[in-house]
Amino acid sequence: MESRIFSQVRGNVQEAASSSGDYVPVEPPIDEFLLRQFEITNPRWLDENRWTADETLSGIRQGGVETLAWYTSFRSAQIWGIFIRRSAIKGLTYQFATKTGEPPQHCLRAAYKVLYRHELFHFQVDCAYLKLDELAAAHSLSGDDPYLQSRKSNKPWDDLEEALANARSLYRTRRPFRPELTRILKTSPHGYRDFGKYRSKQDFMAAVDQLISQPHVGLRSNPGLHGISALVDLEDSILNGQHVPVYLVDS
Ligand SMILES: [Zn+2]
Repeated sequence: MESRIFSQVRGNVQEAASSSGDYVPVEPPIDEFLLRQFEITNPRWLDENRWTADETLSGIRQGGVETLAWYTSFRSAQIWGIFIRRSAIKGLTYQFATKTGEPPQHCLRAAYKVLYRHELFHFQVDCAYLKLDELAAAHSLSGDDPYLQSRKSNKPWDDLEEALANARSLYRTRRPFRPELTRILKTSPHGYRDFGKYRSKQDFMAAVDQLISQPHVGLRSNPGLHGISALVDLEDSILNGQHVPVYLVDS
């Protein structure tokens, strides 16, 4: 039987494939799309966008990556997907270009991916909770929806989930950009800045296991269930991002 997740996610993709005055959907091929949208070949680009770096760095210090980009669940009644502020992509591009000396086009791509990968992890966790829900139902365990429960009990954000989302993004970022990204992410608030603990795959997966099993104690104590982290399927073809709508937000 096909998991509910696949039909739910697929169904919502069609609905979400629209744009409004405030945001545009990101279209493949991504590199060409970004170059068109940001006109980065203009030689004055860096000078003209210096201000966005200050705004971006200050946002990260105050509220972590979510001040720059966010994920809205497919459970939401609104348009769902990954939303990324244009100013944040510009700000990170500026930082990468001035600190690494790499061509701005490369920095633009890296900046986009940093924010995209962080938010993609939130989507993967969202999907894992949906699978967990099915598992709980199959074992006749009742209780609140684990996803909603975790959102309610972790305010203003879930420290562990944010640390893991940053770890996922940072350790997949290529070398020339990684030192500067590490420096920037270390200035984040609690949770967000703890990515360093999850550098190894083993530590990362153990923490994912802890994150997903938090809301459903009934499942955690069930001796028949091991390795709940397998629910966060980071390599799955459906969940690897191809089916998540991404939008650039005009702010
Ligand atoms: Zn986040």
